[in-house]
Amino acid sequence: MSSWKRTVECGLVDQKHLSKEVILNGWVARRRDHGGLIFVDLRDRTGIMQVVFNPDVSKEAHDISQNLRSEFVVSVRGKIVKRSKETVNEKMPTGRWELFAEQLLILNDSKPLPFPLDQSEAIDEELRLRYRYLDLRQLPMQRNLALRSTLIFSMREFFVKHGFFEIETPILTKNTPEGAREFIVPSRLHHGSFYSLPQSPQLYKQLLMAAGLERYFQVARCFRDEDLRADRQPEFTQLDVEMSFIDEGDIKNVIEKLLGYMFKKVFNLDIKLPFPVLSYDQAFSAYGSDKPDLRFGMVIHDTTELFANTELAFLKSIITTGGKVGAIRVSNKAFTRSELDGWVEKAQSFGAKGLLYVRWSEDGTLESPVAKFLPEDFFEQAGKIFQDLKKTDTLFFVAGNYKNAWETLGRMRCALAEDLKLINPNILNFCWIFNFPLFEWDEQSKRYHAMHHPFTAPQQGWEQLQPDQMKARAYDLVCNGMELGGGSIRIHDRATQQKVFDLLGLSKEETQDKFGFLLEALEYGFPPLGGIALGIDRLVMILTGSSSIREVIAFPKTQRGYDVMMQAPSVVKDANLKEYGLMGIVKEKK
Ligand code: ASP
Repeated sequence: MSSWKRTVECGLVDQKHLSKEVILNGWVARRRDHGGLIFVDLRDRTGIMQVVFNPDVSKEAHDISQNLRSEFVVSVRGKIVKRSKETVNEKMPTGRWELFAEQLLILNDSKPLPFPLDQSEAIDEELRLRYRYLDLRQLPMQRNLALRSTLIFSMREFFVKHGFFEIETPILTKNTPEGAREFIVPSRLHHGSFYSLPQSPQLYKQLLMAAGLERYFQVARCFRDEDLRADRQPEFTQLDVEMSFIDEGDIKNVIEKLLGYMFKKVFNLDIKLPFPVLSYDQAFSAYGSDKPDLRFGMVIHDTTELFANTELAFLKSIITTGGKVGAIRVSNKAFTRSELDGWVEKAQSFGAKGLLYVRWSEDGTLESPVAKFLPEDFFEQAGKIFQDLKKTDTLFFVAGNYKNAWETLGRMRCALAEDLKLINPNILNFCWIFNFPLFEWDEQSKRYHAMHHPFTAPQQGWEQLQPDQMKARAYDLVCNGMELGGGSIRIHDRATQQKVFDLLGLSKEETQDKFGFLLEALEYGFPPLGGIALGIDRLVMILTGSSSIREVIAFPKTQRGYDVMMQAPSVVKDANLKEYGLMGIVKEKK
């Protein structure tokens, strides 16, 4: 072969290559020996092309092809021909053609793989991660990464077009608590001192506004040392944005325009803008969550008044101590008794003491474990709360303090919708949540925490309110029940920032030590500012319909934060520990 380099990629072969000579490079995805003929599915990142080795076309190539095994890397030269009618595969983009091989060069061989790459069976995720470079060879994984790349490119394009600068901020930084636990890195030059890895570039981006850069964005890597859930990773990527001389409406506008631009560019889809806005209180009272999934109804209703005169002791005691009873309605589902019992258990697993159900049997009588305690006109009374209440409806009630009861109902709502297949997976339902509380009380530490972060500006009139009544100028973007991003208008004067630190219970020394540089900067002409960050991994996860964030990250960690391929974190040599001044500390633990 004069050159082994490809002239066309496997998945891009089409009509125009017919009867032409081409060279393909790629991996052997499958090899089938049909007596005289050997068929190979050759794969590269664009797709698969069928190659035929026929001794009548080239005895030499046919001979070499006998040695081919899965994942050998080859170069094949030959002619593109039409497949016979019976062998056309309409499901494959290249299924109407095949390559008649004239020359074959094996560029590399491969050991038998630890798992097949054809998605023919479910593979243990640890094994996939251990051999991630093999796992990523699979076309669905390549598609995820390709879409990720295209989306990030379109983000950059949008922001640059709108006059934003992409500015990198440090990875080795100072511990700047925003709420999450941070990773720390020992310093070799300053024994006993540590850098922190940023949980977000928050303070840097605020300082970039102080620096007069006005419009900033960054595709930023962030680090949080937290217990991991299905859609979390210790390091993740976010689109980080900050702007000066703006208010909430500007951020909302920019992000909606960005998403509109990306959907048009990447999927040629027009999304419906603007997105609906709910206040935190509206979202929580109707959906029991600040990230409601709006793809289905099943709204939570306050049904406390239905039980105002109840004889049921446990409900009575909840209501007289200020608790509430909430309910959701499931329509057109004839639950069996064991299904209903299953839902009671589910509610308990969500933290409820119990779940009451009420439904009406065909003769119109009430069916419920507490039926005899319910008034005869319960259906009529409930009908005043639930519009169009039907005798085929089932009501599920949860009682308790407002927050817990509603959170349980919110989770029940999602679990029921999933179980009853009420969710259309092809819909993207975005909404904004505004008017968050500024603080939330933490029972454990007996102090307030910032609900967003401590740099978030309070809403007007805050000084006259108790901390738990204060509202934040913060907002979240939610899609299909997932928080896609969040941000806020920031405090830009020292006095307010100092007061918020005080309310958070930070001493003057702590404030000075952790945030002295920020308080100082706030005294040198800090412009009004605000921003937002969107989780890129989550966005790509939603857009690719992936079930886990790990499906859209090239080299993710396991749920225990472990890199099974590189085997990190790992033990370091004593000599290194010494260098970092860690010898005594780590030795004891070993
Ligand atoms: N730093 C925030 C976060 O990572 C986002 C923001 O307020 O802009 O959640």
